[in-house]
Amino acid sequence: MGFVFRTWKRYPAMMLTGIRNRILVFAILATLLPSLVLGWMYFQQSRQALLDNTAREMKAVASQAEREILLWLKEQLFELRVFSGSYLLSEALESYRQPRAAEDVRSEEVVNSLGSYLSLVRDQYSYYRKLLVFDNDGQLIVHEPLDEPGALLPPDWLAQLGEKRAVLGDFHREGSDGQPALMLGVPVASANDGMLGVLAVEVQPLELEKTLYSLLSESENRGSGTRLMLVDARGMVVLDAAGGSEDETGRKWRVPFPRNDVRDLIRYRNSQGKDVVGLLLPVSGSSWAVLMEKPRDYLFAHIERTRNMAVLVVAGIVAMIGGIAWLLAREIIAPLGELTAAAREVAKGNLDVSIRVRRKDELGFASTVFNDMVGQLRYSRERLEKLSTTDFLTGLPNRAAILDALSGMLKRYQRYSRVFSLLMIDVDHFKSINDKYGHVAGDEVLRHLASMLREQMREVDVIGRYGGEEFIALLDETDGESALVVAERLRTEIAALGIDIQGNPTHITVSIGIAEAEQEDKSADGLIDRADKAMYLAKQNGRNRAELAGVSRRDS
Ligand code: GH3
Ligand code: MG
Ligand code: MG
Repeated sequence: MGFVFRTWKRYPAMMLTGIRNRILVFAILATLLPSLVLGWMYFQQSRQALLDNTAREMKAVASQAEREILLWLKEQLFELRVFSGSYLLSEALESYRQPRAAEDVRSEEVVNSLGSYLSLVRDQYSYYRKLLVFDNDGQLIVHEPLDEPGALLPPDWLAQLGEKRAVLGDFHREGSDGQPALMLGVPVASANDGMLGVLAVEVQPLELEKTLYSLLSESENRGSGTRLMLVDARGMVVLDAAGGSEDETGRKWRVPFPRNDVRDLIRYRNSQGKDVVGLLLPVSGSSWAVLMEKPRDYLFAHIERTRNMAVLVVAGIVAMIGGIAWLLAREIIAPLGELTAAAREVAKGNLDVSIRVRRKDELGFASTVFNDMVGQLRYSRERLEKLSTTDFLTGLPNRAAILDALSGMLKRYQRYSRVFSLLMIDVDHFKSINDKYGHVAGDEVLRHLASMLREQMREVDVIGRYGGEEFIALLDETDGESALVVAERLRTEIAALGIDIQGNPTHITVSIGIAEAEQEDKSADGLIDRADKAMYLAKQNGRNRAELAGVSRRDS
């Protein structure tokens, strides 16, 4: 995590293009796209299938309703024709038609007898709200009950009579109950004299309402808010199978689409403000239509539940796949981060890095290769370091290494006053050995001497080749006097040592100058110079000698 965060801070573009995000985006898209496309296709198909089914079912119920309406209408007209055929009615109308003078008493008699006939009929048929008799000009002669207002025939009544021998009016509501009633009319004919007038009735469609209600109940959608209605030419609901529980606004509601255009399901807001789908079926031979509607939420409830489930499932899968992708990406990125961090260390010059190889895949291989590479670098550097600090001929530390060690000891001396001494060792008359046996033999002597010096010194002491046939020894924790003792021992050991040069046993001697470190020695130069001078003093005093440089504090 830390690595990723640092990376983002350093390379903001990686927030979008980083491996992890690319894997994540890919995984999510790869899951989401097919799910969405398939889900959408499935949803559309089920929706269409559901709508087709619903349309079919609703058409069946609506056509059944149409048949019932036509049947009811036929029965009503049949009954009305029976009454219109009454001898009483035709006789009364015939005598009403006789030319009469004003104030004719007979005319009043006729009206009265007509009225009593109507009231007789109405007593038998409670669903006849009103009975009316019109003359041949469409003028109302008498109506029953008398205490209620009369009514008019529809304007086209004459044409209707010519066409189908019946008058079909509109449904209208009247009175406090507001129940709808339909006006129907049939001609009253005489035996020989043609039409005498029209017998009309305002009939309450109670039976029809019951029929439609049971039709609705039979269909499976009882109680689901499904409605079956009859609408008139203006698109207003005149009959509702579910019962006339509508308030005033509901009664003023109109079907919100043209009546003749409708064949399929239409979506709209119904009189109660509900979102519904409806189907409108014109009733043949009339200006009415059957309207059936179902609430949309009821219709789509199942599909929507399925869709919500699908969305949940897809969301779950996406989360799961995303999580797996995230883990996978982290598995790749964590070792990459380690590799990068280690490489950065190497770039800074730190070769003491190594990556833990935890995996056997390509990244594990990369880590192994990296470790090998760093190991190789480390080895090369160590070799170089050694080469640069070692004297080629003797294998002892070279001049640079000695000066390095000396400056370290000087610093330590200045900080902690840990005394040490320096020996400057020079082979006596070395030139003559070269001259006598040659340079190669001289080299051999120098190598011998070097290994002998190394053997004689303590582990903590530094012995190196200063140049030519000169060596320097640094004796830790040793003052000048003690160093003199060491130098004497060295000198006598060397002098006693027989060296075989090309078959000639030879002895070499050395002259040694000794100097003890002093507080004034800010750099190596003064100390070396004092040892050098002491060494020359030894030469002057006859060689094969050790001389201790005078300590400045003693001099003073
Ligand atoms: P002294 O007693 O005064 O020190 O006499 P010396 O001959 O040792 O002194 P000088 O400094 O005059 O000579 C040093 C000689 O050491 C000169 C050189 O030929 C020889 N020499 C220096 N380095 C090497 C080397 O690496 N190999 C060989 N074979 N000889 C070397
Ligand atoms: Mg010399
Ligand atoms: Mg010499």
